[in-house]
Amino acid sequence: MADAKLIVVDAPNDWLDIDHNRYAQIAQMIPQSAARPILAFVRADGRHGDTGYAYRRGRFGQAATVDTGWITNEVNSDTYKKIRTSGYSPLAHELAHILGNSGHVIGDEKNLLGNSPVTVNNHITKEQCETFKRHPSITPL
Ligand SMILES: [Zn+2]
Repeated sequence: MADAKLIVVDAPNDWLDIDHNRYAQIAQMIPQSAARPILAFVRADGRHGDTGYAYRRGRFGQAATVDTGWITNEVNSDTYKKIRTSGYSPLAHELAHILGNSGHVIGDEKNLLGNSPVTVNNHITKEQCETFKRHPSITPL
């Protein structure tokens, strides 16, 4: 990625505590010309258990949500942190979904894209790394 920008915006339509049903609605408000991936940090009230979500290319075509990741404030809760491996980043996890055009890695081996608190850590495979490099937003050095 050439660079990253932090843009702070007010919640549209007074949608303060949102769940995944609002992500697509908010994504529709983002200009299609905006550089992607876009990672949004949003507030959730915890009722839905939402912590993060990513819309990747292979699964969602070219909809407004493609290459967007959504991370809620729930990842800052003690409950969330307690069950995650030290060094694990929910931001990196959602970005890996986008760059890897990948769902979760299923199995006993720990991985950044593990599918449960027991199987996630900050490890990526060489194959995942090569896939990430091929994402259109990645500029080769
Ligand atoms: Zn995930």
